[in-house]
Amino acid sequence: MPLNANNPSRQSWINVPENNDFPIQNIPFGVFLTRDDIITIGTRIGDTAIDLGALHQLGYFKGIDLTDDIFLQDSLNDFIADGRKTWRLVRNRISDIFLKGNHELQNNNVHCDKILFKMDEIEMQLPVDVGDYTDFYASKEHATNVGSLFRDPENALLPNWLHIPIGYHGRSSSIIPSGTPVHRPVGQTKPTEEGGKPGFGPSKALDFELEMAFITTDANDLGKRVKLEEAEDYIFGLVQFNDWSARDIQAWEYVPLGPFLGKSFASTISAWIVTLDALEPFRTDGPVQNPAPLTYLSQGGNMNFDIKLEVGIQPEGGEETVLAKSNFKYMYWSMAQQLTHHTLNGCNVRSGDMMGSGTISGPTKDSYGSMLELTWRGANPLTLKDGSERKFINDGDNVKMRAYCEKDGLRIGFGNCDGKVLPAVE
Ligand code: CA
Repeated sequence: MPLNANNPSRQSWINVPENNDFPIQNIPFGVFLTRDDIITIGTRIGDTAIDLGALHQLGYFKGIDLTDDIFLQDSLNDFIADGRKTWRLVRNRISDIFLKGNHELQNNNVHCDKILFKMDEIEMQLPVDVGDYTDFYASKEHATNVGSLFRDPENALLPNWLHIPIGYHGRSSSIIPSGTPVHRPVGQTKPTEEGGKPGFGPSKALDFELEMAFITTDANDLGKRVKLEEAEDYIFGLVQFNDWSARDIQAWEYVPLGPFLGKSFASTISAWIVTLDALEPFRTDGPVQNPAPLTYLSQGGNMNFDIKLEVGIQPEGGEETVLAKSNFKYMYWSMAQQLTHHTLNGCNVRSGDMMGSGTISGPTKDSYGSMLELTWRGANPLTLKDGSERKFINDGDNVKMRAYCEKDGLRIGFGNCDGKVLPAVE
């Protein structure tokens, strides 16, 4: 099916400000509360939110096989379960409805009033009910840096890393949409002397992790597995993802079973899911994989996506300082390889599951995706624009992430992925 919605020459009759993340070629999906307190599935062009529930009720999706209430829901799970053909039909239709020159809706003020909202009239919600959330560890630079800091610089990358997309099962109940504040977690930390009592209290090493995450549809029945060449068919879209981490809690608890309370207190995602289809023009080669992966993971070619990433800290009442710029294309293991490996043992992946990429660090020191790496575990503090120093994140800091693709004058972005840190609850 042609991706008409991706045609770069298309323009909308809705105004799209310059450098906006949401031109008519994006058409992301999200869930929001309207000014009348009604929850609905929607999309966005420029700074206008579009109520897809209302659009469907008024007959604009005629001819597409959709249940009456598919958009009148508080999550995208059922729509995502409808599969890729339906996503493409709906996205192409939305593009046609809002295409410059199509006056059907534009000239109908009664309908426009029911369908269109300014962004400040709505409240974004979590786009999906995440059943299961997995976080990978797929950036070679990040894994090497963390291995050096936590273990041994000589053997930073463990022998399995170049053969397996390493991951762990995370906690989905604490996934929150952009703008939701995060309380500094309390936890146990490593005793200061061998055999001593562990420390206890608010984390002193609160960190962000600059990541992307993909959302799946129903991919496989229990006992079956997904083949690599089909894996992308089951990826609905991506969000930006901040995998908050308390390094001091993590360092004490993570042996031998991996991350636990140092990670599970909160994970922030951007509220709009940008479809994999919308990202198609931004495909790019991945890093060379040497040694070659086992056959079931063999991919190659343009398996990655060129998505520019940024993270900054805005202190209370101050100006933001950008701390790092990275790129999703640095991922060693692609999303298709991650999903294929995830189902290798027959574990079933469902609609609304979320898979984090792992922190995406680039090759240079200004492209590291966590404070742990940027300050080398606090050894080299960063200076913000207001002159204050940071080894890790302070209370009152707003951590802001951005993700966008840009090519030939077209920009497709993810909107806000922000979270302000509040003091620990004692
Ligand atoms: Ca992570």
